Amino acid sequence: MAGVRLDGIVKAYGGLQVVHGIDLEVAEKEFVVLVGPSGCGKSTTLRMIAGLEEISDGQLTIDDRVMNRVSPKDRDVAMVFQNYALYPHLNVADNIAFGLRIRREKPAAIQAAVREVGGILGLTDYLERRPADLSGGQRQRVAMGRAIVRRPKVFLFDEPLSNLDAKLRTQMRAEIKRLHNRLGATSIYVTHDQVEAMTLADRIVVMNNGRIEQTGTPMELFLNPANTFVASFLGAPP
Ligand code: ADP
Ligand code: MG
Repeated sequence: MAGVRLDGIVKAYGGLQVVHGIDLEVAEKEFVVLVGPSGCGKSTTLRMIAGLEEISDGQLTIDDRVMNRVSPKDRDVAMVFQNYALYPHLNVADNIAFGLRIRREKPAAIQAAVREVGGILGLTDYLERRPADLSGGQRQRVAMGRAIVRRPKVFLFDEPLSNLDAKLRTQMRAEIKRLHNRLGATSIYVTHDQVEAMTLADRIVVMNNGRIEQTGTPMELFLNPANTFVASFLGAPP
């Protein structure tokens, strides 16, 4: 079956181990949210799935294929970051098209894909603009456009809304969930925001100190926290 599977995934920087053997199965089309305090290993775990960070030990499988040594561009995975990582000198259309140009797709196909994605994300009127002339929410939409235009099987989000104000965050949250459903993708979403986790997740994975404390639906974790860490992390008001 399609999906993402981590078996005993470990990350060590030099002699220092920061992710201590994570086991996790994400089903096809599932929306899983990784939560936990700053420094607990969320980004490191995501980056290993994306191939941006080498896996020190354990096995990563996507779609039944072992990915440990597969380069990022061959993983059918797209990542959306907190800091957008847009190219300032390219306009919106070219930012969205970037990944397709690298794959040497035909200009007409690229143009059609950019228009479609622009429409999905409400960017049709902004395609000629540079990132500097966009609002924060629009920039984050461009970053998502760059990810979805490649139609990846797996989306990885690393705190994509942290730089936005509260109102926009709520709006973008709904948009992300809609996109996930519409594209039929598998999503792994990192946040340290409990409300975001509770509202977005099919399943929440609570991490602490490089380990998983508990995995379950928002309701399961809320009603039956495995320990005081999970209880205080999810129960504390935002
Ligand atoms: P989170 O995303 O949950 O805030 P990270 O995955 O970024 O946490 O970091 C987990 C731990 O790994 C932290 O203690 C961090 O300092 C450490 N770390 C992250 N990247 C590196 C690196 N390149 N070299 C050494 N330590 C790192
Ligand atoms: Mg992080």
